[in-house]
Amino acid sequence: MGAYFSEIFLGLYSLAVGLSITFKEFFKPVVTVPYPFKTLKMCDRYRGHIELIENENGEPKCVACMMCQRGCPSGCISITTKTETYEVEVKGEMKTKKKKILTGYDLNFTTCSLCGQCIENCKFGAIEFSKEYNLASTRKEDFHFNLLNRLKERNS
Ligand code: SF4
Ligand code: SF4
Repeated sequence: MGAYFSEIFLGLYSLAVGLSITFKEFFKPVVTVPYPFKTLKMCDRYRGHIELIENENGEPKCVACMMCQRGCPSGCISITTKTETYEVEVKGEMKTKKKKILTGYDLNFTTCSLCGQCIENCKFGAIEFSKEYNLASTRKEDFHFNLLNRLKERNS
């Protein structure tokens, strides 16, 4: 008989403890957001896919040195360039110089491991990790990014 009542008592006690925790949490500030209607601001250390950084004129800072592409262990960066010539005055003489211009910067995010090697290799501070995390898709093609176009879209 004693065991019967002690079981009832323990059951009621654990119920009271459980409900007290529920009530305590009920009045605490909400820590979740109704995604996708609201999204969170990601922390500074968050690593989304890489993104090109623009200069003060809205142009990519990238000078097409290819160091990020060469250093990427997954081979997921494809850069295309063109060479332009320009005239410059050196000691009163006009000289023709060549300059590489970035024409395309594609990222295959399906194989990117977010290792950060490309960012470390870039001596011009031209790429960074984005804060993008709304990337769910069942199609692989949706994870192939034209970063140059994305930069233009951001500025338009
Ligand atoms: S983070 Fe790593 S794997 Fe991804 S593009 Fe850069 S170097 Fe390649
Ligand atoms: S390392 Fe930097 S500057 Fe060189 S191609 Fe890559 S992003 Fe451009």
